[in-house]
Amino acid sequence: MLLRTVVRAALVGPLMALALLSGQAVAAPAESPQATAEPKILTYDAGESAEFAEAVDSGVNVWNESVTGVRLEKAADGEQANIRIVADDGWPRAVTTSLGNGTVYMGREAVQQGYNTIRIASHELGHILGLPDIKPGPCSSLMSGSTAGVSCTNPNPDAAEKAEVEENFAEGVAGPRDRQRTLVFQD
Ligand SMILES: [Zn+2]
Repeated sequence: MLLRTVVRAALVGPLMALALLSGQAVAAPAESPQATAEPKILTYDAGESAEFAEAVDSGVNVWNESVTGVRLEKAADGEQANIRIVADDGWPRAVTTSLGNGTVYMGREAVQQGYNTIRIASHELGHILGLPDIKPGPCSSLMSGSTAGVSCTNPNPDAAEKAEVEENFAEGVAGPRDRQRTLVFQD
């Protein structure tokens, strides 16, 4: 009898501890970690963006005003930036090494054809933030890129594009959407 009581007490103890633990686990989501989560900070270095420096800053502002899950900030001097933005004579493009990391090329070829530099900057940054091209598409879509025509100056992502970026960063940079491989987006 005494032995059975001891065994029961030994079982009840851990069970109660488990109940307390699971009680806490259930209560935790009420604090909504998603809503209080800090945005993922990505740094950028536009030191080689030449005549496009202002357009790049405008493109960065577009994203910072459009989404809450990720924020682009200028890298400090000497700091290794997540995103490099450089000017060259080719067609605008982005080379991403993983979600939030890569190089944006502000290609002069499209600028000479009349394409809007701020739209180019925010479009290419969109690739860095995990968006594919959506072509052909209307001017209201940022990722329709050049297919919206030279007259399109809209630098803002549409609702679906914003939602996709939020989703990418809600899952975290190590999440399943993080493509740890190099992708090249021409345009
Ligand atoms: Zn593109």
